[in-house]
Amino acid sequence: MKQDNLSQPLVTEDRVLIVDDSPENLRVLGSILSERYRVNVANSGRRALEILNEYKDFDVIILDIVMPEMDGVELCKSIKVKDEFREVPVIFISGLSDIDDKKSAFEVGGVDYIVKPFEKEEVIMRVETHLRIRRLQKELISKNRELEANYKRLKELEQLKDNLTNMIVHDLRSPLTGIISMFEILKMECESSENRNMMEYIKSGYLAANSLLDMINSLLDIARLEEGKLPLNVGIHNASQIVYSAISFVSMNTKNTKGNEVVPDIKADVRVICDADLIRRVLINLITNSIKHSNSKSPIKVVVQSLNSFAMFSVIDDGIGIPKEYHDKIFEKFGQVEIRGKNKKYSTGLGLTFCKLVVEAHNGTIGVESEVGKGSKFYFTIPSSS
Ligand code: ADP
Repeated sequence: MKQDNLSQPLVTEDRVLIVDDSPENLRVLGSILSERYRVNVANSGRRALEILNEYKDFDVIILDIVMPEMDGVELCKSIKVKDEFREVPVIFISGLSDIDDKKSAFEVGGVDYIVKPFEKEEVIMRVETHLRIRRLQKELISKNRELEANYKRLKELEQLKDNLTNMIVHDLRSPLTGIISMFEILKMECESSENRNMMEYIKSGYLAANSLLDMINSLLDIARLEEGKLPLNVGIHNASQIVYSAISFVSMNTKNTKGNEVVPDIKADVRVICDADLIRRVLINLITNSIKHSNSKSPIKVVVQSLNSFAMFSVIDDGIGIPKEYHDKIFEKFGQVEIRGKNKKYSTGLGLTFCKLVVEAHNGTIGVESEVGKGSKFYFTIPSSS
């Protein structure tokens, strides 16, 4: 046992260092505190620094302010520059009238002071208070580290999962394109067949395989957009041209059994700075959704207007509408309105996620205004060139 190590039966494992040039003070404080804690004592600043070098696990340091050579304030400054002791509470020992000393003690990082002559109960209470704070602080630091480690691990696992999903999704594409080609051949071969059932089966299979391919392509696009790996081919384009091109694509490729007319309403033919192909795909998604969710054959409006240095596109329908609680959720991956339950065939909940990511990649915003039974207005903005 070292000479400056006071050993007694301990109440806690906490370690306290007392630094004072007065042997009497060291004796009194030492005997009060060593009943509860592991106590080390030092009779000078130099000796204190040696002990701190040896034991790195101090929980409280008690310093006399007035000492020859290196006083308590100086010693405190040297302790606080060391990373391992920065958070260790320092309590000063001071006389009743040493107001200035107390002030400088707090300025260099002291948290409290004990006034001479020592009152046993007060000394224990003050030390215990700071030890409790110190324990809570240590617990917090360790919990934080644990959380950080868990978060890092979670991120790694998430990345691993994403890589695996992308790989699977990517690898599904080739065999699926093969299946679609086979269906196309079958369709041609059976076009003249009398067997109507067979033709229906082939059409259904063809439709299902194409929906799966759409889903795979959307998942891959979304993954690339999320990772910032879908390069934007940005140029300056007329907003109206993008709108007309999207409408004509929809009229040629989308099932529109109710016969909704899609009507452009170009309030200002803004020139937009964007990847025209991606923005066209956003519009196609929004228009197709409006057709899918329309109630009647009432027209679907595609509006373009100028808004400061942005162009705003809106797709407006008077279809079934969307309950308020879903207005954010539908833009999330696989987010769908759940209460209807009908017509969910081949619906992925990925279209609006794709739209949101594309619009945000253009520094724009996307949103919806909608009321159940009255219809929806999906709108987005992208930068315009003046
Ligand atoms: P999907 O259409 O494949 O389900 P989306 O991400 O495009 O995926 O749409 C998510 C959900 O938002 C849809 O399932 C639908 O419930 C709702 N939704 C989208 N557009 C409209 C609209 N114009 N009218 C009503 N509901 C819509």
